[in-house]
Amino acid sequence: MATPPSYDDRDGTIWFDGRLVPWREANVHVLTHALHYASSVFEGQRAYAGEIFKLTEHSERLVKSGRLLGFEIPWSVEQIDQACREVLADSGLEDAYMRPLAWRGSEQMGVSAQRAKIHLAIACWPWGAYFGDESARKGIRMIVSPWRRPAPYTAPTESKAAGLYMICTLARHEAQAKGYDDALMFDWRGRVAEGTGANAFFVRDGALHTPTPDCFLDGITRRTVIDLARRRGIEVHERPIWPEELEGFEQFFLTGTAAEVTPVASVGPWNFEVGDLTLQLRSDYLDLVNRRLTNA
Ligand code: PMP
Repeated sequence: MATPPSYDDRDGTIWFDGRLVPWREANVHVLTHALHYASSVFEGQRAYAGEIFKLTEHSERLVKSGRLLGFEIPWSVEQIDQACREVLADSGLEDAYMRPLAWRGSEQMGVSAQRAKIHLAIACWPWGAYFGDESARKGIRMIVSPWRRPAPYTAPTESKAAGLYMICTLARHEAQAKGYDDALMFDWRGRVAEGTGANAFFVRDGALHTPTPDCFLDGITRRTVIDLARRRGIEVHERPIWPEELEGFEQFFLTGTAAEVTPVASVGPWNFEVGDLTLQLRSDYLDLVNRRLTNA
């Protein structure tokens, strides 16, 4: 498979602080606060057939993430929505992944950064199945990460903040180096938490079980899938889940904007089937985002 072009060397435009600039010119200086201190927040959203799924929820979460890091994005939710639509339209893409990013600039160096300007950029590009084309049929293979999701008193865990992804990258690199697709992370208490970029759902006796999102992102896809399941009369239990329970679950799937609904075949020593309930919810989700189902 050919290596995709580097993300700084593509055609097209990127929305940068209020205007569309040529892709290769959307640059920042090396003395940017965000590069040194991870003072940035981002979104990941997808467009299907020309429409960005739950766009306003993403823009709202972006603004909230910035506030949780102590800064105010100088654009309203409506303006961010509009900018996203402009980027998508300019790209000519119908199906795309979109990445809004807000960060502290270079006006001030050091830990404190009250004078640093807040920037906003939005890019989009084509992005297929996050775990590859075979993932839905076969299910992905995961390891358990030694890294744990931090406690809410240790980090702003409700924010989609760049800094929170440092352990996700470490966890996923370790998984891939060992030949696996992803890692399941426990939380600081030792409870089952989530994947490195997606939420976790388990199936047992026809019901769904998903960890309470009290120290990790309560994903937009997660909430959508809970709605879809309840519409089908499937019971959903949001509750603490301990690793001892993994043995007794029949199915396991991940949810996320990039991952959509991805079945999991195994985590360490535990195996799962790519079962009907998982495949049903995956197909409901794809119907919903492609507007083949009325919106939840
Ligand atoms: N957890 C993490 C760590 C993520 O990066 C994501 C993707 N944004 C999710 C969960 C799922 O969130 P969403 O469904 O809103 O994309």
